[in-house]
Amino acid sequence: MAERVIPVVDQRSTVLVPTVRSGVPAAPSGELADLRGRPLRDLRISVTDRCNFRCSYCMPKEVFDRNYRYLPHDDLLRFEEITRLARLFMAHGVRKIRLTGGEPLLRKDLERLVAQLAGLRTVEGRRPDLTLTTNGSLLARKARALKDAGLRRVTVSLDSLDDAIFRRMNDMDFPVADVLAGIEAAQAAGLERIKVNMVVKRGTNDHEVVRMARHFRGTGITLRFIEYMDVGATNGWRMDEVLPSADVIARLQAELPLVPLAATAVGETAQRWGYAGPDGRHDPRLGEVGVISSVTQAFCGDCNRARLSMEGRLYLCLFATQGWDLRRLLRGEVSDAQISAAIADIWQGRSDRYSELRASLPAEAGAGQRRVEMSYIGG
Ligand code: SAM
Ligand code: SF4
Ligand code: SF4
Repeated sequence: MAERVIPVVDQRSTVLVPTVRSGVPAAPSGELADLRGRPLRDLRISVTDRCNFRCSYCMPKEVFDRNYRYLPHDDLLRFEEITRLARLFMAHGVRKIRLTGGEPLLRKDLERLVAQLAGLRTVEGRRPDLTLTTNGSLLARKARALKDAGLRRVTVSLDSLDDAIFRRMNDMDFPVADVLAGIEAAQAAGLERIKVNMVVKRGTNDHEVVRMARHFRGTGITLRFIEYMDVGATNGWRMDEVLPSADVIARLQAELPLVPLAATAVGETAQRWGYAGPDGRHDPRLGEVGVISSVTQAFCGDCNRARLSMEGRLYLCLFATQGWDLRRLLRGEVSDAQISAAIADIWQGRSDRYSELRASLPAEAGAGQRRVEMSYIGG
């Protein structure tokens, strides 16, 4: 597909304008494949660029200060626009939808969007696996309404149980007790398979790894350790602050025996480990942990994730430097069939595999690139 690159006036990344085909496009087959044969299964939708935390690895205060220009409300996709796109993506094979941000619970009336998305169906006629990633700060207030609207699962980010460390890491002096209350509210509301994500930063919270594991072991909540990533261009990432997942597992193994578990789905980001019982086998009552090794072990080979920004740009990789402007189509005189065909063209032209290439890139690679921020496409 011919691509037209608009000169960059945007701070976030290069904007690409999808080609709208004339004539009658082919109906979606539900089985798109990109240039590496990867299907499209997972759509991550960022609903806001705002956040009430300033995690240094994501939205450092020095950059995201009072002079930072967030998007005006009219630039954000409306819920009906998001749902229209989600429906078209699902016809191409998407089964899982994750709402993210910024902090998604800051978007007003989010439960209205959840209800609309919960009403969609996969190509197999099933409900989407609808989930949300949140910092948990507003979860105690919103868990019930989200569940009632049709949210099935939730992932809460929590980097430490130590109040002082947690307050420092969110850099807004937000207490850990309120996030724990949010997790409890999610459980009480009946949200399933709750996960907690901990970004491990060596020298900052890595000594909390075992304590976090002990806290969530046997609760039905799956804790996942995420390697601190070089995403965006503002967090001052350094390799020596990454604690490799292998080290996380070794530290856990020393105190809490683990056994490797098989992946449950192709393209799963986390490697799973189950807590072993006295017989050395996985004891499901104790649950499991996951490690997401985006830095030390690339998993691009199965990556089936597309990302939609709050202003309607489609990104094909977390480390993308360019995004496709779907909002232009939504707000133009463009039919569903044409938007659907544009999405197919874009996915079929995808070859992204940043994590696989990271090691071979020169250290300064990306320095001049407008790599998109995590708070913009949501992880
Ligand atoms: N605000 C919500 C939250 O924190 O859960 C959703 C958006 S946040 C960008 C999504 C996930 O990305 C969070 O789990 C966060 O910890 C993770 N994240 C952000 N920056 C990261 C980085 N540099 N490396 C690894 N994970 C990161
Ligand atoms: Fe906000 Fe989530 Fe980024 Fe932290 S990780 S600054 S909570 S968007
Ligand atoms: Fe997918 Fe890009 Fe991450 Fe590779 S680097 S797993 S292609 S998002």
